[in-house]
Amino acid sequence: LGIKSKTKKLAGEKTTECAVIGAGIMGGGIAHTNATKGIRVPLKDINQAGLDLGLSTAVNLLEKPVKRGKLNFSKAATALNNIIPTLTNESLKNSDMVIEAVVEDPKVKSIVLKQCEDAAMDNAIIASNTSTISITQLAKSLTRPENFIGIHFFNPVNKMPLVEVIRGKQTSEETVKRAVAYVQQIGKTPIVINDCAGFFVNRILTPYMRAYSNLLAKGADFVFVEKTMKKYGMPMGPAELIDVVGLDTSAHVLELMSQNYSHMPLPENNIVQALVENSLLGQKNGEGFYTWS
Ligand code: NAD
Repeated sequence: LGIKSKTKKLAGEKTTECAVIGAGIMGGGIAHTNATKGIRVPLKDINQAGLDLGLSTAVNLLEKPVKRGKLNFSKAATALNNIIPTLTNESLKNSDMVIEAVVEDPKVKSIVLKQCEDAAMDNAIIASNTSTISITQLAKSLTRPENFIGIHFFNPVNKMPLVEVIRGKQTSEETVKRAVAYVQQIGKTPIVINDCAGFFVNRILTPYMRAYSNLLAKGADFVFVEKTMKKYGMPMGPAELIDVVGLDTSAHVLELMSQNYSHMPLPENNIVQALVENSLLGQKNGEGFYTWS
């Protein structure tokens, strides 16, 4: 009982068990996506309330297509059975892939990642879903940094096809190959990038959010901008996008990018930050640029 598996994953083998650590917005979504692809998912959180939230995310995502007749009930039940909620690291002993999705705090993540390395299979890939912390920096807490990589999903996980695979300075090529194969296995599109602030997507999105904030501050018509960007072909306007990402997350990204790139200073009038200070966080708490129900 509780004895760690000594089995090693062989090169080219598919991922059979992917532990997800942190059952929040992202963790619940990542667990659901894995489970629907037949991968077992020990889903770990620090408390029962966190676990319940992650499980309810997965249940909701499975219930909706069943109600619409797009997924049969037994397939949904099988997927749900693949998720094994847990509060202990012992449940990771057969995991060949671990995705850490706990709070965006380097100290917390470093501790959690080391625990994952100790608990999972000997050559398991340990991945972080961090949006902003350097993969090379997080690798410092680990004994086998060559097995560590960034696997960055976007929110909502079930709908967003792109996944950034971030290679830290010590990440091995074998780990990159296995991470790419895993992302393809779960039906997503991987892009491999070297570790840098904002990775790929946030380096493109930040100037867009910044330009939008500046336009609003200059008195641009809110509805006009939203409608026009949709007519241009974007799936949603910039305000809706920021709401979906989360105003707190967006404010954090704007701040981080301004610290790292001289050509991305903070908006002249940081409306995103102002909304956060008024507890308007977007879709996640029901109030942002829009009211969400
Ligand atoms: P969240 O706050 O919704 O969830 C975090 C979860 O981690 C909570 O359930 C919390 O109880 C749990 N947790 C905290 N400490 C833990 C520990 N020591 N062990 C186990 N569980 C622990 O956060 P989120 O929005 O899901 O973000 C998680 C990660 O994903 C962050 O690194 C974030 O930057 C990244 N990310 C977020 C988004 C997004 O849009 N929300 C998008 C991409 C990436």
